[in-house]
Amino acid sequence: MTGFITRFAPSPTGRLHLGHAFSALTAFDAARVAGGVCLLRIEDIDQTRCTPDFEAAIFEDLTWLGLDWPQPVRRQSDHFPEYARALERLARAGLVYRCFKTRKEIAEEIGRAPHHPGEGPEGVVYPGPDRPLSEAEEADRLARGDVFAWRLSLKACREALGARYDALVFTEEGEGPEGEHGDIIARPDLLGDVILARKDVGTSYHMACVHDDALQGVTRVIRGQDLYFATHLHRLLQALLDLPVPVWRHHRLLTDETGRRFAKRDRSLTLEALREAGMTPDAIRARVGHG
Ligand code: GLU
Repeated sequence: MTGFITRFAPSPTGRLHLGHAFSALTAFDAARVAGGVCLLRIEDIDQTRCTPDFEAAIFEDLTWLGLDWPQPVRRQSDHFPEYARALERLARAGLVYRCFKTRKEIAEEIGRAPHHPGEGPEGVVYPGPDRPLSEAEEADRLARGDVFAWRLSLKACREALGARYDALVFTEEGEGPEGEHGDIIARPDLLGDVILARKDVGTSYHMACVHDDALQGVTRVIRGQDLYFATHLHRLLQALLDLPVPVWRHHRLLTDETGRRFAKRDRSLTLEALREAGMTPDAIRARVGHG
C-alpha cells in the first residue's frame, strides 16, 4: 500500500458544482503528484437530504472530469452499526451525554451564563449544561420518548486526557482561514460540546468522517478551509478513540468574480450545466486553476 492516501468525500445532497470540482482536483492531483491514491467516499448519513440520483451524478461528473478511484467506494449509510459502536465506546467512557434541550433552550441557557463564549467559528458554542441531568430525570425523559442528541462533553474529555488535552497537535500542510500552517494546537473548546449523534441519526459527520479516515488508512485529509475548525474537534476524537492521526491540507475556497463562495444555489455552475453548455473537462480544470 502506498504511503499517501487521501480522499474526496462529497455528500450527495445536490449536483456537484465548480467548488467541488476544485476540491476534487486538488485532492486527486495531490495524490498523483505524490504517487499515492485518492479515494472517493460518499458521505450520506443524512438520509433526508441525500439521494441515490445525486450519488449517481457524483460518479458521472467525476468520471467526466477524467478522474478515477479504487473500488469499492465506501458509502457511509451502509455502515451505521460501525459508527454506533464508536459512539458506544465514548458513552462507556462517560465522554458523551444525552442532551434533550431544544435549540431555543440552549440559546436561553447560553444567554444566562455569565461568561458564555457565544458564537464560535462554527456557530453557537454550547459549553455544556449548568448541571447534568440526573439518572432519574434522564430515565423519565427516555420513557416519554423525548428527542435527544448525544453531545461530546469537553469537561469529561479534559478529565480523561489530563495534560494531553491541551497538548493535542495537528499538522497543517495547507492553510487555515487565517493562514494557519505547520503544527497547530487543537482547540476543541472553540466548538463547545458538539452533537456527535442524534436519536434518529445515530452518528454525525464528525464521527463518521474520523472513523472512516482511520479505517481507510487516510494519511492526508485534503479539504476546504470551511472544515478547518472541524479539524480541532477531529483531532480530539482521534485521541479519544486511539485512532491514527493524519496530516491535514486545507485549501482555499473557490469564489466567483464577486468573491462569493460557490454554493448549491448556483445552478448554472453545476458540472452538469457547464457540460451541457459545451464546456470541456480541460476548460473546467483551467477555470479552477488546475489546468
Ligand atoms: N462531506 C463533507 C462535505 O461535503 C466533506 C467532508 C471532508 O472532506 O471531511 O462537505
